Amino acid sequence: MTLFDSPAFEGHEAVHSFYDERTGLKAIIAVHSTARGPAAGGCRMWPFATAELALEDALRLSRAMSYKNAMADLELGGGKAVIIGDARTGKTPALFEAFGRAVEAVGGKYWTAEDVGVTPADLAHARKTTKYVAGLTGHPGASGDPSPVTAEGVFRGVELGVRRALGRGLDGVTVAVQGVGHVGGHLCDRLAAAGAKLVVTDVNEDLLRQVAARTGAKAVTTGAIFDAEAEVFAPCALGGAVNHDTLPRLRCKVIAGAANNQLADADVGRKLFDRGMLYLPDYVINGGGIINVAAEIRALDRGEAFDPAWVDAKLARLMETLDEVLDRSKAERRPSDQVAGEMAKARISGAAEKRAAA
Ligand code: NAD
Repeated sequence: MTLFDSPAFEGHEAVHSFYDERTGLKAIIAVHSTARGPAAGGCRMWPFATAELALEDALRLSRAMSYKNAMADLELGGGKAVIIGDARTGKTPALFEAFGRAVEAVGGKYWTAEDVGVTPADLAHARKTTKYVAGLTGHPGASGDPSPVTAEGVFRGVELGVRRALGRGLDGVTVAVQGVGHVGGHLCDRLAAAGAKLVVTDVNEDLLRQVAARTGAKAVTTGAIFDAEAEVFAPCALGGAVNHDTLPRLRCKVIAGAANNQLADADVGRKLFDRGMLYLPDYVINGGGIINVAAEIRALDRGEAFDPAWVDAKLARLMETLDEVLDRSKAERRPSDQVAGEMAKARISGAAEKRAAA
């Protein structure tokens, strides 16, 4: 299979591969679209078994960033970098300096940031050789941990979903939260403060105990979360939580959480729609994190300080977009994930046409 035949290729503008002999860096930078602005998306370091798997991951994640950035109404396109290597044993400052040179070679069409296996400390080495890095610490434009902003967006999304599906506020509503890590933990705090009742689970039992103790949540085993008597299910752990096995067990009216790729496939999206469940598409509701990173890119670009008011305005706009997705899904009797995908594509192609006409 060639690059252009890959199902994940889907119109990528550019795909760059880099090899640095001195450090052994093997990296791919995929730029799906720059129609709305420079591509932005994190860098993942992972011991991919083959270069083909690394390429597929880069393409899939880069396209997903285009959609997420478009739905968050950011003047950013979508891109992603992968470094082939073991994050536990393969990191050196020189490797990340070489990665920075690779980012620099893309000429400002791609901004990198953290993702799985890459930390702010690694990015600080990349920053020595390129300016196109967000997610650093200790400068006036720094955006810090994106998780609280992601959680705030998810919280507002849950509120929106409950209002639409149940016609009420959060007080007394039960929310089942799967995964109480960085985002899920903050989400539980916000929900508890709003009077929601919580059922929570996590594979990390210490964390689970801590969150349950401070929010009054009922802690259950990881399997039992799908059977919880709850109006809302909030997947905040890994992808694929809503699948052909778990869907028949869910009794909720609303699915709204932070995890990426919550639906196992499009068929699950159709089935939950047919069952009258309201699904708030993952890459829309969890856009708070990228909005936070975008605020850093904006600050660095303009030589200004981080602006929390800009983040808040974008979060408010994100909720309007979510509402529009759900309106259209209802009016057109189509699953919300389908509608969101089409809206994202239309926003990207609209920007491309505008650019071509300029
Ligand atoms: P995290 O690693 O801090 O939290 C995930 C939690 O899920 C962990 O506590 C983990 O123990 C738990 N977990 C893993 N498998 C589980 C299982 N089978 N059952 C129950 N719990 C399980 O990650 P996070 O930053 O909170 O992100 C959560 C999700 O949201 C991820 O899918 C991430 O990709 C997505 N997301 C995060 C952000 C962000 O700003 N952090 C932004 C957008 C999307």
